[in-house]
Amino acid sequence: MITIGRIAQMREVSKRAREEGKLIALVPTMGFFHEGHLSLIRKANEVGDLVVVSSFVNPSQFGPGEDYENYPRDPERDRRLAQENGTDILFSPSVEEMYPQGHSTWVEVEGLTEVLCGKSRPGHFRGVTTVVAKLFLIVQPHYAIFGQKDYQQAQVIKRMVEDLNFDLKILVEPIVREPDGLAMSSRNLYLTPAQRREATILYRSLLRAKELVEGGERDAERVSALIKGMIAPLPSAKIDYVSVVDGENLRPLSKLTGKVLIALAVKIGRARLIDNILISVDE
Ligand code: AMP
Repeated sequence: MITIGRIAQMREVSKRAREEGKLIALVPTMGFFHEGHLSLIRKANEVGDLVVVSSFVNPSQFGPGEDYENYPRDPERDRRLAQENGTDILFSPSVEEMYPQGHSTWVEVEGLTEVLCGKSRPGHFRGVTTVVAKLFLIVQPHYAIFGQKDYQQAQVIKRMVEDLNFDLKILVEPIVREPDGLAMSSRNLYLTPAQRREATILYRSLLRAKELVEGGERDAERVSALIKGMIAPLPSAKIDYVSVVDGENLRPLSKLTGKVLIALAVKIGRARLIDNILISVDE
């Protein structure tokens, strides 16, 4: 594995790989790897000949007062885990390299970014799409692999790829969970032991909602009320949203039908946690 910090060198390596007919698979991350990231790296190994993992804590996707400065970082451990899981190139540019003075171009997807996390994190997706577009242009991948954990992000990026005619395929991989069901996240580190126990309710509430739907419930309001009713009593939890939406366009549903996404964002202590479940609903 080699670590690259410079855009020019990354471009050169990708250009050479493409000339040799290699398929490039990119996994964009903000580092501080857990099994969720590693599952994406292993998927990249299945589809690509050259596996590029980017590690960049992207300042432009954090709002004022969010956790950019405190976002967990451990480059040494990341290097080891990336290598052990089959990374060929760890691309880890500095902020100055990605956003040199004078940078003033942004990529913005409308519509899909105005719901769910977009409502409470204005500007977040603009930061994500801008950095991901830059990574696509620098790394020139054939495949880019994302996690279903950030379902809305994956939908927004698919939209951007289609609208801007990027010539690559987006793959979305399942959510990797802790043994008790909590979705793995770098931000789980912020939880105290008591909050960590509370956090298990998030996935349990999604499973209960799924059971309710499988039992015939089709009213979105009643499904979200069940989830809110399980989360609201937790001492450290503050619900940002619990939404039942169309799995493609992310528009709110009143009656459940087709590909349904139940998504939630909850602040537990210092950590803003997200989770979701996809359900296929027959009429
Ligand atoms: P992050 O470093 O948090 O920006 O995440 C980088 C990539 O890993 C994104 O595509 C995330 O959706 C994905 N990811 C994060 N957590 C998980 C998880 N628990 N399971 C699967 N993918 C994940």
